[in-house]
Amino acid sequence: MTYPNTQLFIAGTWQDAADGKTIAVHNPSTGKEIGRVAHAGKADLDRALEAAQKGFEAWRDLPAIERAKAMRRAAALMRERADSIARILTQEQGKPLAEAKVEAMAAADMIEWFADEGLRIYGRIVPSRGNLNVRQLVLKDPVGPVAAFTPWNFPINQVVRKLGAALGAGCSILVKAPEETPASPAELIRAFADAGVPPGTVGLVYGDPAEISSYLIPHPIIRKVTFTGSTPVGKQLAALAGKHMKRVTMELGGHAPVIVAEDADVELAVKASGGSKFRNAGQVCISPTRFLVHESIRKDFVAALTRHAQGLKVGDGLADGTQMGPLANPRRVTAMAELLEDAVKSGAQVAAGGERIGSEGNYFQPTVLNDVPLSARIFNEEPFGPVAAVRGFEKIEDAIAEANRLPYGLAGYAFTSSLKHAHLLSQRVEVGMLWINQPATPSAELPFGGLKDSGYGSEGGPEAIEAHLNTRAVSITNV
Ligand code: NAD
Repeated sequence: MTYPNTQLFIAGTWQDAADGKTIAVHNPSTGKEIGRVAHAGKADLDRALEAAQKGFEAWRDLPAIERAKAMRRAAALMRERADSIARILTQEQGKPLAEAKVEAMAAADMIEWFADEGLRIYGRIVPSRGNLNVRQLVLKDPVGPVAAFTPWNFPINQVVRKLGAALGAGCSILVKAPEETPASPAELIRAFADAGVPPGTVGLVYGDPAEISSYLIPHPIIRKVTFTGSTPVGKQLAALAGKHMKRVTMELGGHAPVIVAEDADVELAVKASGGSKFRNAGQVCISPTRFLVHESIRKDFVAALTRHAQGLKVGDGLADGTQMGPLANPRRVTAMAELLEDAVKSGAQVAAGGERIGSEGNYFQPTVLNDVPLSARIFNEEPFGPVAAVRGFEKIEDAIAEANRLPYGLAGYAFTSSLKHAHLLSQRVEVGMLWINQPATPSAELPFGGLKDSGYGSEGGPEAIEAHLNTRAVSITNV
C-alpha cells in the first residue's frame, strides 16, 4: 500500500518548500517512516499569506450560491474518494479503517451543511427613529483570511470544521495541519482544489508549529485565528491573538465526566460510554474519561465495562476486524504508562488492561481503573488515551460537584431514567456539550465547543458561521 509524500498548497499550486526541507512521517502501527511532508519556511508563508488575501477577495466576491456549489463539488469528491483517503488516514494516524472512512464521509456532510448555511447569512433593516428618509442597515461580511491550526487525532475532521465555517462565511483559510498526519488533510484540501475554488481560497502549510503560529497570528493579512489542541498551547495562541486584536475560536482539551445515576440503564451506559471511550483509542477531546458511578451499581458497571474493554480487538488499523488501533504517537504511550503508574501508586485498582502491548508500534491495552482517588493524576489531567477511570458517588449533587471541579468544560455524559435528574444535570453540569442516555453525536448543525479552560467559540451550528462575520451598521439618508 503506497503512502503519498505531502506538499504545501499555495496560491492554487502543490509545491515543495522553497528550501526543499521535509519532515519524516511514521506509521504508528510499526514506528517505521512511511513518507515525508514539506516543511514551510518564511518565504513560503509570505507567499501563502499573499495568496490568502487574493483568494479572500475572489471568494468573497462570488455570489453565495456559486460558493455553495463549489463547496458541494468538494463534498462529492470527498465521498467518491473516501476509500482511498481512509487508507491514507489509517496509515498515518492508526485508527481502524472503518473509523477513518466514517471521518472522510462525515467531512462531506459537514461541507454540505456549511455550504447551505452560508446561503442564510442575512443582514437586517432597522426602522429609523424619526426620519423616514433614513434606511438603517445591519450588514454581515466575512472577516477576512483565517489562520487555522489543527491536531493529529482527527486529521480531516478538525480541518473540515474550520474550513467549512470559514468558506461558508466567505472567508479564505490558510491551514497549518499536523505534521504527524499530513496526507489525509491534504486530500481534503485537494478536494477543494479539484472542485475549482479560486487560487488562495484554501492554503495548506506544515512546518514548525510554534514558528508558523507566531508568524501568522500577528500578520496583518490574518483577521481570524482558530485552533484545536491542548489547553496550554491554546492559551498561548489566544494571548498572542489578543495582543494583535484578532478574532479567535479555541477548541481545547477536556476531561469529560460520565455520571451514571442509581436509576440508569447500566447496559445502555456501558454500551454508549464504552463505545465512545475506546473510539480512536481514546484520543478524542470529547472522550468520556471520569466515570462517576452510583455506589449501588458500581460493581455491575465496572464488571460490564471491563468485559467490553477486554473484548475489543486491538491491532493494525488496516487489518480486518480491528476495533482499536495503536496510539497516534509514542508520546501518548509514555503518557499512558506514567498515568497508570501514578494511579496504581495512589491506590487505584486495574480492572482491565494497564499495559503497553509489544515493543513495535504505539499499542496500549484498553484499560479500566476502579476506585481511583481524586488525587490521582488521571482524575485531574486529560488522559487522551484508552483509559477509563471510575469512582463511586452517593448523592447526585456530589457527582455534579465533582464533574465541575476541574477547569475543563468541554463534554459531559449522564445516564439516568429520571426526568428530575436529567433536568438537574442539564442545568448544573458546566460543559459545552452534554449527552444524556446516549453516546456523543456531534454534528455540523449543533454548536461544538467548550467552557472554561476548554476554550471559547463554536465550531458547529450557525454560531460557527457567525464567528467568521463582521457586523456593521450603515445608515443611508435619501437626499
Ligand atoms: P501539544 O500540546 O504540543 O500539541 C497539540 C497540537 O497543537 C498539535 O497538533 C501541535 O502541532 C499543535 N501545536 C503545538 N504547539 C503549537 C504552537 N505553538 N502553535 C501552533 N500549534 C501548536 O501536544 P501533543 O503531544 O501533540 O498532544 C498532547 C495533548 O494535546 C493531548 O494530551 C491533548 O490534551 C491535546 N490535544 C487535543 C486535541 C483536541 O482535539 N482538542 C487534539 C490533539 C491533542
